[in-house]
Amino acid sequence: MTNVFDRMIGQTAVIADLRDAARAARGLANRLDEHAAGAVSMFGEADGNEDLGDPARSSMTHAWLFTGPPGSGRSVAATCFAAALQCQDPEVIGCGECRACSTVMAQTHADVRNIVPQGLSLSVDSMREIVQVASRRPGTGRWQIVIVEDADRLTEQAANALLKVVEEPPSRTVFLLCAPSVDPEDISVTLRSRCRHVALTTPSTADIERVLVDRDGIDAEAARWAASVCGGHIGRAKRLATDPDARAQRESALGIARAATRDSTAYKAAEDLVRSAETAAKAISAELDEAETEELKTALGAGGTGKGTARAPRGSAGALKELERRQKSRATRVGRDVLDRALVDLAALYRDALVLSMGAQVTAMHPDKTDDTTRPMASYASPEQLLRCVEAVLECREALDVNVKPKFAVDAMVARIGLAMRATERV
Ligand SMILES: [Zn+2]
Repeated sequence: MTNVFDRMIGQTAVIADLRDAARAARGLANRLDEHAAGAVSMFGEADGNEDLGDPARSSMTHAWLFTGPPGSGRSVAATCFAAALQCQDPEVIGCGECRACSTVMAQTHADVRNIVPQGLSLSVDSMREIVQVASRRPGTGRWQIVIVEDADRLTEQAANALLKVVEEPPSRTVFLLCAPSVDPEDISVTLRSRCRHVALTTPSTADIERVLVDRDGIDAEAARWAASVCGGHIGRAKRLATDPDARAQRESALGIARAATRDSTAYKAAEDLVRSAETAAKAISAELDEAETEELKTALGAGGTGKGTARAPRGSAGALKELERRQKSRATRVGRDVLDRALVDLAALYRDALVLSMGAQVTAMHPDKTDDTTRPMASYASPEQLLRCVEAVLECREALDVNVKPKFAVDAMVARIGLAMRATERV
């Protein structure tokens, strides 16, 4: 593995900040150690909290909030930062080679906890348990770190339990929260105000294209196409470039636009969309599971080539079981996210048509569909009709969000699109 920050694509400015923060944190941890050993009295009576506690004054903070659109790599960024905080290399920050780096990246470091909501929200009980563990002193690491992957899925009480500990954090504890945005819908205003905010940006098409070629060995033409249609989502770009199921799934989502205009094809298309989303979600889960299990096994010393590979340490069966549990709960969310992504794609197609019909100079979200779908649609339908289609798609997303069965939600959407497109009035 190379430096852990290399995993963050197109986030140069953020990486520089995180690296500085991790370096500062290292200095602080050393001072805390010396202080604890009685060698230096840095902080008078207190245990050093004030140096960490004030986000505005200090370069190191107890609570961090990583935000960014889906695919920008929020949880990857949080994990890389956790590795950098624990990294044992004396020179490099987040070397990617040491035991601390490799175990954090494999999610097996004893002092780094990855919290992924079990179902669709994080309960207060599990949050209390987390808070309790987080308050312990770190074992081998510098910090006791808790990564909350979907902080927007915290229940209100869970968020309050978290807020309490973030307001008066133990001196060695760091919370890394991930959420789509700082919108109060995603994260409470008080919790947000206690966190140092790291805003990840959508990587550029050029950045994505480069990483597909350099890192994944994808040929230039496929990489360019995938980067141009992925909506800034690197993982998705890679899948589109390499996985025929992912491409078929995108086609079936975008195919709704044409199919929905006729009753004879509309419901079949809806059915295809739901089914292809299921297939694609399964493939994604399987791939994620395999890579993680492999990393975990390497970290546990089974089959790896690094130091400590001779024997598997105690507790490895438990760690594998825990990983399986996490993977199962993730699979549910992946299924939902894939269908949502398909709907975002479809909405973007109508948006492209709308942009064309208004003559605006904006880069298309689906440049490969301009000639055969978007332009004909823009000349056939009025802006009002296209807007109504966008609304139909957004309503479907909302319905899925409140657990309406995918089949019903997509059927209803297709019906509304059909109505909108068949409306005869033209402005
Ligand atoms: Zn390291």
